[in-house]
Amino acid sequence: MCMEDRIKRIVSALVVLLVMGAVLLVSRERRETQTAHTKDLFAMDTFFSLKVYGFGGEDALEQCAERIRELEGLLSVTGEGSDVWRINHPDSGYRIAVSADVCLLIESALEIGDETYGALDITLYPVLREWGFTTGEYRIPQAESIQALLEKVDYKKIKPDTEEMTVLAPEGMEIDLGAVAKGYTGDCLVELLRNRGVTSAILDLGGNIQTLGAKPDGVPWRVAVKDPFEPDRELGVLEVTDKAVITSGGYERYFTGEDGRDYWHILDPADGYPADSGLVSVTVVGDSGVRCDGLSTALFVMGKEKAVELYRQAGDFEMLLVTEDGGLYITEGLEDCFECGGGWCAEIIPAGNQPGIRSKMKGV
Ligand code: ADP
Ligand code: MG
Repeated sequence: MCMEDRIKRIVSALVVLLVMGAVLLVSRERRETQTAHTKDLFAMDTFFSLKVYGFGGEDALEQCAERIRELEGLLSVTGEGSDVWRINHPDSGYRIAVSADVCLLIESALEIGDETYGALDITLYPVLREWGFTTGEYRIPQAESIQALLEKVDYKKIKPDTEEMTVLAPEGMEIDLGAVAKGYTGDCLVELLRNRGVTSAILDLGGNIQTLGAKPDGVPWRVAVKDPFEPDRELGVLEVTDKAVITSGGYERYFTGEDGRDYWHILDPADGYPADSGLVSVTVVGDSGVRCDGLSTALFVMGKEKAVELYRQAGDFEMLLVTEDGGLYITEGLEDCFECGGGWCAEIIPAGNQPGIRSKMKGV
């Protein structure tokens, strides 16, 4: 064999080796990006179930768990020394220095309070406590005591300063960020994962779902929405990418009073009683977890008509409403990504101002 042939052979062998190596690397990388890493934990009085795909998933999940613990420590209303606890137990009328997380979260919650005409009110805590929703020792309070406690309810009096990161609350007022805490936590986790280069994750925060990107194969996530009348069943499935899907339901936490009636944990700040708006479940779908969380609670209080009005005004979220008489309503933007469950029939709420319902979608 001449020298030239030998060189040719060596070069071809090298090329084959290189190609094989590249193929191996690509298939390993594909396998790795398709690998799910999961973590379950109990925090903020609920179960978290996190699923992250791709390289470094295990480390990313550890960081997520640390972040959840950090936020839990800041937001706990009962944990002595937490930021929220210190706002509720001021030594004097001075501003309380808090973390940026708490200050910004309060600012967002107050904005949603304004947008929903006070249906979301983070100062309801004294009334929630009177009902026993903070401890689980439920009772129907005297009408007079609710009336007296409502004197202490007015979110407009809470003054965050997001330059100095301080909060001023009038004496006797107490805040509780339970209506927005999980949504905010979801936003923080998505930010953390994005910064680490994660492109595919699904986070279940006590039934509130936060998705990052699509599934690793590019297909949207499928998120089931519970049937509020039979929470073990689903009323349908939403297909979403990069969205928060957050539900407030009367079925989530309630007690049956001595009078045989059910009383749930979402109160109407207007009268201090469980919201009686005709809605039994509200799911909000959007880009921001904190906004979806705040809105789901507020729309539950506001009722269908006002919820539809706000939906058309805001234009940055979609929703799914269930009424106490068994009606299911979904907004136009969900029409192509919602699959109705068996026995359910959804009516579509148009985004525009045209009255009435445009079309119907039936479950099989
Ligand atoms: P969950 O946290 O059960 O998923 P929500 O996000 O709707 O449900 O939050 C309900 C919690 O918010 C209640 O447990 C209570 O602490 C608080 N809350 C109840 N009603 C209101 C309200 N109108 N405005 C602000 N917070 C509320
Ligand atoms: Mg909420």
